[in-house]
Amino acid sequence: MTRYEAVIGLEIHLQIKTATKAFCRCAGDYNAPSNRNICPVCTGAPGALPVLSDEFVARAVKFCLALGAQVNLTSSFDRKNYFYPDMPKNYQITQFFTPIGSEGHLAVTGSDGTERDIRIERIHMEEDTAKSAHMGERTLLNFNRAGLPLIEVVSHPDLKSGEEAAQYFKKIYDIAVKYLDICHGNMEEGNLRCDANVSIRPVGSSELFTKAEVKNVNSFAFIAKAIDYEIERQIAIVTGGGEVESETRLWNAKLKRTETMRKKSGRNDYRYFNEPDLGPLRITAEFVEQIRRTLPELPDAKRRRLRDAYGLNNEMLDLMVGYPAVCAYFETAAALYPTGGRTIASWIAGELLRVEDKEHFAAVKTPPAHIASLARLVDEKRVTGPQAKELFAVMRETGHDPNEIVVADPRFQQMAGGETAAMVTAVVDENPDAVEKYLGGKENLLGFFMGQVMKRSKGKADPAEVTEMIKKELTKRKK
Ligand SMILES: [Zn+2]
Repeated sequence: MTRYEAVIGLEIHLQIKTATKAFCRCAGDYNAPSNRNICPVCTGAPGALPVLSDEFVARAVKFCLALGAQVNLTSSFDRKNYFYPDMPKNYQITQFFTPIGSEGHLAVTGSDGTERDIRIERIHMEEDTAKSAHMGERTLLNFNRAGLPLIEVVSHPDLKSGEEAAQYFKKIYDIAVKYLDICHGNMEEGNLRCDANVSIRPVGSSELFTKAEVKNVNSFAFIAKAIDYEIERQIAIVTGGGEVESETRLWNAKLKRTETMRKKSGRNDYRYFNEPDLGPLRITAEFVEQIRRTLPELPDAKRRRLRDAYGLNNEMLDLMVGYPAVCAYFETAAALYPTGGRTIASWIAGELLRVEDKEHFAAVKTPPAHIASLARLVDEKRVTGPQAKELFAVMRETGHDPNEIVVADPRFQQMAGGETAAMVTAVVDENPDAVEKYLGGKENLLGFFMGQVMKRSKGKADPAEVTEMIKKELTKRKK
């Protein structure tokens, strides 16, 4: 039987945070009362002329650089002509012939654990349309959104699964929202929108079957599901002898399936031509370099550096790369105790994030130095596991450094070896039945003895040491 593989490309639209709209001086604030931020330009009054926002250009260049794309020093603005009530000019200003950025890339980790670059074909600037709200027979239009700056990122069809597509989308989100801060990232308000082109082909073939477009999968939770559903649907059609139709489909989250929105008939002809009111966009190489210098360290580079410097595992790397504030906290702590990176990261990921919100981590009161002290005490075995958890709680409660707490508080002084040994002997003496069963082969009774000793020591004994002592003591009882 023929096996099939998926071929997926994503088109992601991002609304860019700027003081004004893309081509007029109206405020770039969609949330103002409806139709408050409008003028002759963004409502398409005849004769009104667009003027490009510098801030929009700077942010687009920054985004291109962050995606490893080539910035085109000359690009064009073009008219995409079509009629729709949300766009009274009857055309949208976009970049069709020469976009601001081309040929970028972003890495994803495939299901086999290896990293692979997903190629980005183009990054272009355009304007948003008005927002329409359908109310029964009427449609209301809000022009606050008309003319807001948008960037569209078009990938090559290099993605192979819903999971990879979700990773790629999440990375674009992280870069724009968390690293560059050029997009609000509110997906419910449509700040980020993702359309997926999905097709299948026999494994190893370069032929492409008809693709279907799954529109508006604006959620990390749904994107993988929607694409995987679509792949399965197409495979079922083709293996059943049918043909996939060219159509636009929507994800139905309730029924967990994609559904036909509209069939595509032929190619739309948008009659693109250069926007005569703007002319070409020319920028200088110096301008691009100036912006390059303002780029922060980006997710792929950060991931590699943290892996090399601290040996963090993938799960911890995901946390650090996905949450820059958590990462900054981690790096401050790790600078104080550089060989303890993994222990520090595991205390942040485990205990600290059980009580703190990773989305608002900048406000955490526990100083990074305290987590570093705690990690060092744990690594040097100066506190046992159970003591360390208690120490963490005391540290949070009092705001004191763990080094001071262990000195002042008798609960955290470790039991001397002799004292532990006496407890082990006592527990073994008091349980002759269990001893007999253990020596008869029920070795899982070791846990019982452990539990008894730990309880008696109130968690102060070192579990590893206790285990060894119990084994030794029990062996001594063999006749
Ligand atoms: Zn305006």
